[in-house]
Amino acid sequence: MFAAVDVDVAIVGAGISGIGAAYHLQTMSPDRTYTILEARGDIGGTWDLFRYPGVRSDSDMHTLGYSFKPWTSAKAIADGPSIMSYLRETVAENGIAEHIRFHHRLRRAEWDTSSACWTLTIDQTDPHTAAVTESSLRAGYLFVGAGYYSYGQPYDAQIPGLDQFDGEVVHPQFWPEALDDAGKRVVVIGSGATAMTLVPAMAKTAAKVTMLQRSPTYVVARPAEDAIANTLRKYLPDPLAYRLTRTKNTKLQQFFYRQARSKPDKTKAKLVALTAKAIPDTDVATHFTPSYNPWDQRLCLIPDGDLYEAINAGTADVVTDTIDTVTPTGIRLTSGRDLEADIIVTATGLRMVTLGEAEVVVDGETVDFSQTWTYKGFAYSDVPNLASSFGYINASWTLRADLIATYMCRLLNHMRDTGTVQCTPRLRPEDSTMTARPFIENFSSGYMQRAMSAMPKQGDREPWLNPQHYGRDRKMFRSGEIDDGAMRFTRPSDETVGAAALAADGAAREPSTASTAVAMASPSARPVRVSVVPSAPTTTTPGWETSPKRSNTTPGVSSICGNDSEYRSTNPL
Ligand SMILES: Cc1cc2nc3c(=O)[nH]c(=O)nc-3n(C[C@H](O)[C@H](O)[C@H](O)COP(=O)(O)OP(=O)(O)OC[C@H]3O[C@@H](n4cnc5c(N)ncnc54)[C@H](O)[C@@H]3O)c2cc1C
Repeated sequence: MFAAVDVDVAIVGAGISGIGAAYHLQTMSPDRTYTILEARGDIGGTWDLFRYPGVRSDSDMHTLGYSFKPWTSAKAIADGPSIMSYLRETVAENGIAEHIRFHHRLRRAEWDTSSACWTLTIDQTDPHTAAVTESSLRAGYLFVGAGYYSYGQPYDAQIPGLDQFDGEVVHPQFWPEALDDAGKRVVVIGSGATAMTLVPAMAKTAAKVTMLQRSPTYVVARPAEDAIANTLRKYLPDPLAYRLTRTKNTKLQQFFYRQARSKPDKTKAKLVALTAKAIPDTDVATHFTPSYNPWDQRLCLIPDGDLYEAINAGTADVVTDTIDTVTPTGIRLTSGRDLEADIIVTATGLRMVTLGEAEVVVDGETVDFSQTWTYKGFAYSDVPNLASSFGYINASWTLRADLIATYMCRLLNHMRDTGTVQCTPRLRPEDSTMTARPFIENFSSGYMQRAMSAMPKQGDREPWLNPQHYGRDRKMFRSGEIDDGAMRFTRPSDETVGAAALAADGAAREPSTASTAVAMASPSARPVRVSVVPSAPTTTTPGWETSPKRSNTTPGVSSICGNDSEYRSTNPL
């Protein structure tokens, strides 16, 4: 029998993924209770954390927005505050706020097959004193929407001599609200999307902003407003106009991505030519012509060509070189050149992590995710009742987050209909000889490569694939078979015979009738915390904290410039 739980579904994270999952649960599986555990003191995740000047999306909001809530602003490339307003509206309109427990960080999740439930260990931070107490919660299913990078610690790129610098060192992840760059000389190290956003934004007030990169990145200028979307909105109801624009944009994204992959030389020549035309006085061969093919790493989108404008105006420039050392007054480059600076911004990237850095234990064994196989790119072999949200490297994150959340609801509904309480992806006998491939293939960005060894393996056949293809995913998640022979639907009594035995006899298929009552919490039950064990107060890590004041120091961050800063998804042309 399924043990009593405090809540049917525990959602981790109140960012785009967690809020979307809550909406889908309420809509598709209204019989399930849920609670959102959020480590920080506000919703929004990425869009609340990053507050550097100009912070914005670099994929269009018609695909970064939810399938169920039209994006109605004129700008398709939106700034951070507008995205936060959109998320706040989503939460308010759907009564999601009352389900969120702020300052609750999942530290450990322990699955017990005999009771078919997760016991979650949560660090609960007092926002006033920063004291942390431990509590626990029992849940039937775990949806992890914790993003993909560490909130507490960005990537430490080890920039030599950084501690000698007499000026201010800032990391975009911990932007100091009071930073004054007026009339100052700024060097932004990096050439990822964050650097491309910061440079034109700071160039408006600083004396001069230099983007220092180790190697170039492809840059694509696009209008911030989508003229077709805005025209459609004039004549059609918002939901229809949004749906049409979303379809247009997903099709275009896929088309351009395929073009770039199948005709890399042609695409490369076109991208470089467009840049050369936009900044005729710049050495585009040196600064804007990458050695790799388009989409081997992400392309950087600049809305309305703002970076080009700053370069043409002489308020920004690009230097392609490597750092010899940081000096008290600036940066000495390997070429011997010195870049004088008052402020150094280390836009050197994120540190990717899995499942919000929580420890996951299944029946007493800590899960090493690198030893698991990905199931449809959202679950893990031999880890029951768990979904995690991971978006696209070549399209907007939310497209996939939406699909994964709806698939979770299909799984929950299937369990309800069949009287089962546990669903576990398990290799079938024929899968035992699968060739392992990386979770994300053919993507050479440093941040992804650095993390790949900790990620689950991808197999060579369905359902052990992470195709990173919206069209295929859409079909699979929306209408693909739920009971596919690899996802085992069981009751605790079935599982006691052991995974090996189940795999060997090919059993553990779901029963055709609902013979066992599903013992998840009743719809009316309110989630209850089962125990609170006070522990010694500790201090919160930067990034988890919620006050608008953020550290202006970069904990251990230093770096060689690189174009590998973070996840990005861009419509290329
Ligand atoms: C600067 C920047 C710009 C980006 N721009 C784009 C873009 O234009 N288009 C695009 O598609 N993608 C973009 N991305 C990727 C972006 O992160 C996703 O689009 C999306 O915001 C991810 O949403 P999420 O909810 O999955 O994760 P997040 O936004 O990271 O939210 C995760 C939430 O989970 C919480 N959390 C984490 N661990 C725990 C835990 N253990 N316990 C409790 N809570 C936890 C966090 O506090 C956070 O609130 C960008 C990323 C960055 C950093």
